[in-house]
Order: sequence, then C-alpha cells, then structure tokens
Amino acid sequence: MALHEITPEDMLQRCARCGSRNRVSLDTLEVGVARYEDVDDGLVQLPACPACRSTEFLIRAPEDEPAHPAPGSFAHLHQLLVGHLHAELVQRGRLHTALKSKGGRTSKVRPSPLSQEARERWFPQGLRIAVPPDEQARAPEESSQ
Ligand SMILES: [Zn+2]
Repeated sequence: MALHEITPEDMLQRCARCGSRNRVSLDTLEVGVARYEDVDDGLVQLPACPACRSTEFLIRAPEDEPAHPAPGSFAHLHQLLVGHLHAELVQRGRLHTALKSKGGRTSKVRPSPLSQEARERWFPQGLRIAVPPDEQARAPEESSQ
C-alpha cells in the first residue's frame, strides 16, 4: 500500500498488488475500521483497486512512535503523509459511525497533522512523495494478463 500524494480534494494511491495508480476522493474515505466489536481508529480503508480489486488499509503510526531511522526515505515520508491524511479526515468529520456515536465526534480520535515546519522541511513542493519506493524486494513485473 502506498500513498503518494494528498491534494485538497483527493489522494493518489499506488496499488501494492498491481501497481496501478488510483485517485481517490477524500469524500469517499473515512477513519476507522471495524474489527470484531471494536473500531480501530488508526486505520483508513481504501476502496478496492479498480484494476485488480485488492483492498488496502493505511495504518497511522502510533503517537509514541520514535523518530524514524531513515529521515527523508520513502517509508518516512509515507508515514508522515498517512498521519496527515488521517488528521485531514478527522477534521472533516469523516469518521466511522461507531467513532461518532461514542459521545462527541472527535473526542476519542486524536489527529496529528503535519506541523508547518515538517511541511516545509519534507514537502516543500506540496504533499507528495518524489522519492521512488524501494522496489528491489519486489518480484519482477508480471505483465501477462
Ligand atoms: Zn490493483
């Protein structure tokens, strides 16, 4: 799963399974995924990939996450973007119904948007990742359909 860009209207996702790039409107996303009786407020479920139908989740890093070991790497920037997307959705009230009903819309979910300083340092060109993901571990392209 990879989130590559966030705009005020949508996000650009690159499918981990088939590699297609999908633009997903922020209005179709919500924070929180039901697991058994509980709802995990650190997850954002993405719509199924139109090309291969695989479904993916974005997982927000825990609040007490230590500093990333490789600042500026794809993994680090991706983590920052996911945290920001999560915060953006919370601020828009895009929450799983179970999270809304538990007294107060955002009382339980604590968003952590990017600071202005972090934006200027890591995303001077806007909320997108230019660093290519490390794909060496991936299998060669399977292009035959
Ligand atoms: Zn796909």
